[in-house]
Amino acid sequence: MQEFLDNIARLKEYLAGAPKRIAIVTHTNPDGDAIGSSLGWAEILRGEGHHVSCLIPNRYPSFLAWMQGIENVIIAKESPEVAAEEVAAAEVIFVMDLNKIDRLETLTEAIEANTTAPRILIDHHLSPPNDFALQFSHPELCSTSYLVYCLIEQMKGTEAITTSIAENLYAGIMTDTGNFAFSTLTPELMRAVAVLLERGLDIPKVYTAVYNSYTADRVKLLGFSLCHKMELLEEGKAAYLSLSEREMRRHNFQLGDSEGFVNYPLTIVGVKISAMFTETRKFIRVSLRSRGENVDVNVFARKYFNGGGHKNAAGGKSFMSLRETIEYYKKAVAEFLPTCNLDE
Ligand code: 5GP
Ligand code: MN
Repeated sequence: MQEFLDNIARLKEYLAGAPKRIAIVTHTNPDGDAIGSSLGWAEILRGEGHHVSCLIPNRYPSFLAWMQGIENVIIAKESPEVAAEEVAAAEVIFVMDLNKIDRLETLTEAIEANTTAPRILIDHHLSPPNDFALQFSHPELCSTSYLVYCLIEQMKGTEAITTSIAENLYAGIMTDTGNFAFSTLTPELMRAVAVLLERGLDIPKVYTAVYNSYTADRVKLLGFSLCHKMELLEEGKAAYLSLSEREMRRHNFQLGDSEGFVNYPLTIVGVKISAMFTETRKFIRVSLRSRGENVDVNVFARKYFNGGGHKNAAGGKSFMSLRETIEYYKKAVAEFLPTCNLDE
């Protein structure tokens, strides 16, 4: 706690004086927590008079399009010049929800070119980098959005939370905890949600906007994936799903459509680890999920897929073909599961 308070004192120093130009950046394939924490934090900083831009490497999924403020987010892949200018002009840069700077993808170069602005990390991933001017790194928290809530509470008091901040932070908390089903759920987090309710949060509205906003194609793609593309391995302890580019095209695939599919195999009794492989033009995207304490997919992602994340949710990339990636995964789980103490 003392370290957190010391960091807040330093944060206040970085923001003191005349209003600043601030860039808030987050990871590629931004999810609810990446966007929710960025937008919530941006609104607080704007309230203090700063000029703030939020930037993301590539487009957000359509189920986040309702979020207030998202219309002004700069998408580097679509507006590279604007993004580069904003990052170059920034006097302070906040990096949200990531533990590897290369997850900024198209933004990495611009960030590294700005050598004067202090970079401040706000994140909840394990194994954070340590080359930031200031780091709020809290792997014990369920989400970066909840960490932003804690910052606001300490720095300004919860009265500073508007309805849109409450909704954006809640969206991040809800999606990163699987709607309060996994991840670290603490009494403090639940009290924070109570405060967000007092600040105008409408839980069914946010839930519906995020989870009941699918196209028929997306729901059919889920059915297809579970029916035809799910395989169990290792006597039912491991599972995977895969989708080729062709299969996605056949279902009019839109960005974000396969988000969450990886969780379904874990609803089967006995499944401890689940993977989802999606083919893109350049690589196979790997999503990993596990249940409980013993199977750490962060370790698995680092060891086998040059990735990372959290104990129960991680990801990485493979540059082999889809078929080779699956064969590699089969060998990897056969090697990894026996090291996991599954009998406990
Ligand atoms: P998802 O499966 O939802 O894409 O990712 C789950 C989590 O895994 C993310 O929150 C992120 O922490 C982590 N993750 C996903 N892909 C990568 C990757 O390529 N590299 C690293 N370091 N982490 C990743
Ligand atoms: Mn997160």
